[in-house]
Amino acid sequence: MTANEIRDSYKKFFESKQHAIVPSAPMVIKDDPTLMFTNAGMNQWKDIILGTRDPEPRRRADTQKCLRVSGKHNDLEEVGHDTYHHTMFEMLGNWSFGDYFKEGAIDMAWEYLVDVLKLNPEDLYVTVFEGSPEENIPRDDEAAKYWAKHVPEDHIINGNKHDNFWEMGDTGPCGPCSEIHVDSRTPEQKAASGKTGRELVNQDDPQVIEIWNLVFMQFNRKADGSLEKLSMNVIDTGMGFERLVRMMQGKHSNYDTDVFQPIIKAEQQITGLKYYTFEEETVNPISKEQDDINVAMRVCADHLRAVSFSIADGQLPSNAKAGYVIRRILRRAVRYAYTFLGQKEGFLYKLVPTLVAEMGDAFPELKAQQQLITKVIKEEEDSFLRTLDKGIGMLNDAMDKLKAEGQTELDGVQAFRLFDTYGFPLDLTELICRENGFTVNEEQFNVEMQKQKERARNAAAVENSDWVELAQGEQQFVGYDYTEYECHIIRYRKVTQKKNEFYELVLDYTPFYGEMGGQVGDCGVICNEPETIDIIDSKRENGQTVHIVKQLPKDPAAQFMACVDTDKRYASAANHTATHLLDYALKQVLGDHVEQKGSYVSPDTLRFDFSHFEKVTDEQIREVERMVNDMIRQDIHIDEHRDVPFDEAKKLGAIALFGEKYGDKVRVVRFGPSCEFCGGIHASSTGRIGFFKIISESSVAAGIRRIEATTGHDCEERLYQMEDAMKTIKAFFNNAKDLQGVIKKYIDEHESMKKEIEGFQAQAVERAAQRLVEKARKVNGITVITSVLPMTPAAAKDLVFKVRAAIDGPLLCVIGSHDNNKPQLSIMMSDDMVSDHGLNAGQMVREAAKLIQGGGGGQPHFAQAGGKNVDGLSTAVDKVIELANL
Ligand code: ATP
Ligand code: MG
Repeated sequence: MTANEIRDSYKKFFESKQHAIVPSAPMVIKDDPTLMFTNAGMNQWKDIILGTRDPEPRRRADTQKCLRVSGKHNDLEEVGHDTYHHTMFEMLGNWSFGDYFKEGAIDMAWEYLVDVLKLNPEDLYVTVFEGSPEENIPRDDEAAKYWAKHVPEDHIINGNKHDNFWEMGDTGPCGPCSEIHVDSRTPEQKAASGKTGRELVNQDDPQVIEIWNLVFMQFNRKADGSLEKLSMNVIDTGMGFERLVRMMQGKHSNYDTDVFQPIIKAEQQITGLKYYTFEEETVNPISKEQDDINVAMRVCADHLRAVSFSIADGQLPSNAKAGYVIRRILRRAVRYAYTFLGQKEGFLYKLVPTLVAEMGDAFPELKAQQQLITKVIKEEEDSFLRTLDKGIGMLNDAMDKLKAEGQTELDGVQAFRLFDTYGFPLDLTELICRENGFTVNEEQFNVEMQKQKERARNAAAVENSDWVELAQGEQQFVGYDYTEYECHIIRYRKVTQKKNEFYELVLDYTPFYGEMGGQVGDCGVICNEPETIDIIDSKRENGQTVHIVKQLPKDPAAQFMACVDTDKRYASAANHTATHLLDYALKQVLGDHVEQKGSYVSPDTLRFDFSHFEKVTDEQIREVERMVNDMIRQDIHIDEHRDVPFDEAKKLGAIALFGEKYGDKVRVVRFGPSCEFCGGIHASSTGRIGFFKIISESSVAAGIRRIEATTGHDCEERLYQMEDAMKTIKAFFNNAKDLQGVIKKYIDEHESMKKEIEGFQAQAVERAAQRLVEKARKVNGITVITSVLPMTPAAAKDLVFKVRAAIDGPLLCVIGSHDNNKPQLSIMMSDDMVSDHGLNAGQMVREAAKLIQGGGGGQPHFAQAGGKNVDGLSTAVDKVIELANL
């Protein structure tokens, strides 16, 4: 079976078991401060598991794009070195939210693997949780009992808390799990090893690996560490798609399957190097050099997928957060290609067409954005290769210095600087050092690394207490229709971040919009008769608005009025609506390739990032502004559709974004021809925007432009500022009628006066040079000229060059000049003074400059130094003559 067929068969099987087949959520997570990337299939169901979202349909299945490169799950360092961990991989999953539990999950998994896919049951092993006496949890006998229906006892293995007890985080849902492992050794390998598959489970053997994990969530972990029963049992399973394909295709490495082989073939073609598959390696043991090539090809094939998919999901490489993680993945690939595949120029971007040809059907977002993906990767590669060059230069300098000092060890602080500034991991620095006969102080490096980690940890540490529940129920958001509403607090908790304490409140009814989709959260108050509490911000968490307050009300259970700060709300809403109109106008003016890549909307400003491959011209900007302002003057009323099924929304012509997570039901917002999927707060009609003006247009990354704009009140203020500035300028020019003409005249006059002054100065220098030449002394056949004059540093330089040109034979000329009370020392010599008398102007000027409290340097025949002490000038000049020792 091909990979695509296997993916389909999984969906078909679970469809036949009454599961709703749902799409993969984006790999990049946009609105969850606790998680940057999807790292397991369950991420997108977190709010159902936590009980804040409707669990229907209770059976679901999908394939989910996952990335494990940061936080709790980080496989990055393994990737390429082993053959079954990837950065980005697909996780096949099936879920039951309060429907079937352990027995159903175990039976279905077994039926799929053995009856449908025909994997050999003798090669399958399962694990069950052995129990934890200190937590008072017994062994998972229940799971063991259901497995015993399918496998002999010696294929059931007890596992510890690390492998067989799954937790969502420090707190929250958790429970025992059962893993399915496959012994994929060849009969020869089995015979040679003398070990049973059972003995190799969870022992990091590359041929006996976990393919599927069935998690049975039945507990909730509280902040004090204790466990309570979960109100709804949840089944959450995850199977590594690439590992399953490998088993099905009888391969011994994920990279030998049709998921990766096309990419690896392309790599071989471009580099002219060969990749050895597992079979080829077995017949023909490979050298260390060839193994490095193999690893590098795996790294590049893997990282190409991770980087391309995240760009398609809207996450570009950058300097912060998720973008930085992506940049590091890409740089890791570049390093391997550079070091082991001899690729000194961009390489990964050349593999994009192969990736798109292979995966573009299953993931259309790749196909649609191929041009952008290619451009971004190429630019990143080029820029990192330049950095790599610089880093290597710095390392070479450091090694030269060590050599001169007779040392052989590079200190760890420098190695760390290379890592931090140039992205050189320790192994690369060590490799280059070793090739040149040096070692690296690893201990020091680790100390520096630890220091940095601590700095990061301290900056990020957030501590959450348990939620205090005051009432049951889910929150209702009423903010589309109201800005004030009666409410109760249903739960709250304390949060501590960098010694700051605040509280998060969840209300039963709230008009507050929590920050989402680029629009900032509302602020305002909740109040009742005795008190008023400020809501300083609101954000979205697990599908609910969480309100941030500095202090709790005295009686949290009382009834309150929740009131949004409407000035700010209306300003944000106007900016959000303007953003939609801008998006529409950009598509009209620049073309359909314009895709939203980021958006930020606050009461004061709006920012819109979009794909476009060149600068937007001034004329195009004007055209866009005119179009938007026309739509504002038409005062188009909002046409809003709530809770529309996704497909129906598409039929309405709404624009969906790549990398955005949409529920089954969506909201569509239309203003005339502009029609978008959007959950944000909008103006009731476009007229409320007042006026729209673009402030700047710039580039944020390869292929991505950014527009910053402003509306209404802020435009008015800016107009006043401009008007005031204009008035002041006019006043400078006696309110001249033809202001432009007058200013132009002044500029021209200024230019010609500057030229005239330069002419006078040149003449003055010329005359001074003549005088000095006439007054020159001779000492032992050497022409000696000294003088102290008022003159700018540039004129002094000019002067000594003129003197040199006028004198034949040996010359030493020393000029002390001063300008605005700043002394300057200039030394000029003929070449023979350097070659025959062994003098060096640079050294002499440094020594003499001490007398003017300054420093400087230059070439052997010409040098200058500035200083602070004008009074020392003539002694400094004498000092030079003394140093020359004529
Ligand atoms: P392993 O011990 O092999 O790292 P895991 O315990 O981290 O696996 P889970 O978190 O249970 O794995 O994930 C469920 C399944 O996803 C695993 O059974 C495996 O098939 C797959 N999987 C996990 N990590 C990776 C990865 N980095 N690359 C490819 N597949 C993976
Ligand atoms: Mg793992």
